[in-house]
Amino acid sequence: MKIHEYQGKDLLKAAGVAVQEGKVVSTPEEAAKAFEQLGCELAVVKAQVHAGGRGKGIAIGPDADRADALAIASGQKPRPDGVARGVQLVRSADEARKAAESLLNKTLITYQTGVDGAKINKMLVAVGHDISRELYLGLAVDRAVQAPVLMASTEGGVEIEEVAQKTPEKIHRETIDVGIGLADFQARKLVKALQLEGPAAKNGQKFFKNFVRFFLDSDCSLAEINPLIVTDAGEVLALDCKLNFDDNAMYRHPDIAALIDPAEEDANEMRAAEHGLSYVQLDGDIACLVNGAGLAMSTMDVIKYHGGEPANFLDVGGGANKDQVLEAFRILLASDKVKAVLVNIFGGIMKCDTIAAALLAAYDEIDFKLPLVVRLEGTNVEQGMKLLEESGRKIITAKGLTDAAQKVVAAAQSS
Ligand code: GDP
Ligand code: MN
Repeated sequence: MKIHEYQGKDLLKAAGVAVQEGKVVSTPEEAAKAFEQLGCELAVVKAQVHAGGRGKGIAIGPDADRADALAIASGQKPRPDGVARGVQLVRSADEARKAAESLLNKTLITYQTGVDGAKINKMLVAVGHDISRELYLGLAVDRAVQAPVLMASTEGGVEIEEVAQKTPEKIHRETIDVGIGLADFQARKLVKALQLEGPAAKNGQKFFKNFVRFFLDSDCSLAEINPLIVTDAGEVLALDCKLNFDDNAMYRHPDIAALIDPAEEDANEMRAAEHGLSYVQLDGDIACLVNGAGLAMSTMDVIKYHGGEPANFLDVGGGANKDQVLEAFRILLASDKVKAVLVNIFGGIMKCDTIAAALLAAYDEIDFKLPLVVRLEGTNVEQGMKLLEESGRKIITAKGLTDAAQKVVAAAQSS
């Protein structure tokens, strides 16, 4: 699960991590007011979307050329004058209002969003800082060492992927013991690696320790501060933050789970999650309804092997009862890209005839119009297939995965 920058900064601040102060706003008027309330000479107005690269990104209206915008946001094309960036420095309430106006309800295109972009519904107005140094700090779970690893670099503000590629020696790593958090000696090593001195050294140590503590306590899967800045006064502050959380741990953190922004999530994926289905939207035209993640993966592979493109990954789990199948059908058929549907279910926990009856009930209730290929395997498979074949509905039955894939690919190509 991802959250917005302003939400992340609130959580970090509560955990004792120093962040740039700011206020989230939804209108240009609120932005002007926020500027006055913050009482600073320089402020920064930032589009709140679940994507990075906003500083170089472009806010565009509905008629703008998206591919062109993406080329500019990725640095492949020169930036014309007057295009609105996703992050803008302002020096008066009026400028804050204008900046917010240039962002609100626009689509932000960054190198991370692709041509689809992300709609801007909210902006963060934050206290602007004179930056003495821009650093990078990131925490991610490293599967190879089976622990979180803290990465720090003096090369902040730029894309860290580039640093990792060109000058990997500039990224300092500390493996975190989850039982301890960041040990004092590790915090001192980081201070040295980042060349923090005087008050910045002390502030840095506190920042690193609280940041790691927050990561562990809130079941983060990724936390990135880019840039982490050092001010002239030696303050160490998060100017930006990107936090991702482990979905499977969110039951432990209802306060964090409540921060989900439905506008940023795929509507079908949200709906599927509410019904206990694992659903991932893909680009193809063959919808799949499968029980079990392993079977779903192999079904997708076999479809591709036979020249088709899966429209989704959908795992209805072990049960596959009528209500689940019905909801799954609704989600699959909601997309106008889908040309054919393949149901591939193994009747182990539930018998195949029970599944066939559930399929037929769902089929009738939803008024199914697309070609539907069904392959069942497992207990009572003969009875199940017989039910489908004698049902009088336009259902194509298949025997074995290859047969099923060939039939559904042919059906999608001819429909
Ligand atoms: P991102 O592009 O989505 O990662 O957004 P950031 O929050 O990292 O902002 C992009 C860039 O804007 C930063 O790398 C800074 O260079 C600049 N920026 C953001 N806030 C301030 C600020 O308070 N003062 C100054 N001088 N620059 C800022
Ligand atoms: Mn950033």
